[in-house]
Amino acid sequence: MRRKLVAGNWKMHKTVAEAVALVNELKKELADVTDVDVVVAPVFTALAAVAKAIDGTPLGLAAQNCYPEVTGAFTGEVSPTLLKDVGCRYVIVGHSERRRIFQEADDFINRKVRAVTAEGLQAILCVGETLEERDAGKTFDILAAQIENSLRGISAATMERVIIAYEPVWAIGTGKTATACQAQEAHRFLRELLRKMHGVATAAAIRILYGGSVKADNAAALLSQEDIDGALVGGASLMAADFTPIVKQGRN
Ligand code: PEP
Repeated sequence: MRRKLVAGNWKMHKTVAEAVALVNELKKELADVTDVDVVVAPVFTALAAVAKAIDGTPLGLAAQNCYPEVTGAFTGEVSPTLLKDVGCRYVIVGHSERRRIFQEADDFINRKVRAVTAEGLQAILCVGETLEERDAGKTFDILAAQIENSLRGISAATMERVIIAYEPVWAIGTGKTATACQAQEAHRFLRELLRKMHGVATAAAIRILYGGSVKADNAAALLSQEDIDGALVGGASLMAADFTPIVKQGRN
């Protein structure tokens, strides 16, 4: 059985002090949660302080982005090697905000997946269709293209270090959530696609998270779906009072 994972993407929010305060609250609130993997993704500037605050706890640390090289003349960028050095175990790649605002395409995202997994870190690979694409009946084509291109050259063994996050773009930060049924349909499609690409064992083991306006009041319905293995949470991860009940609904 796949273990649920709930990750909070804090985006460009929180000073170092605010980030440490939030994670300290989460440590208390989630002390009795041992059956869900909980991950937080602060801004780069807060990673070191949050890593220190969660040291010795089951909380995992994620970066929100990376540059797919080890080291070198890449002003302003941060490599998976440096993220590992600061204590990260996960890196979010291909978030729709990176795709839309920074024009990141699948081949660049593929390089990031390779760089993250080569470092032994877990890549949380985000995929998802826009409203226009969904309305045009292209959801599955878009998801297939994003998955195939972003995972090009990744072996079944390396897939152990990949987590997929299905995030319909129209549901991110909009308050519109995919229904549990719509989300399950997309997750099932993704798992079947991964079975064709990498075989039954990989498809059965890989975790596919749902993201897009997940809140305490819709988490239970989403997390109870057969192919939904957790959540990537944006807005509702910024306060312990909102995030904690979502995590708790991921319990088996
Ligand atoms: C996200 O940023 O990945 C996200 C899903 O945001 P929100 O929960 O705010 O829709």
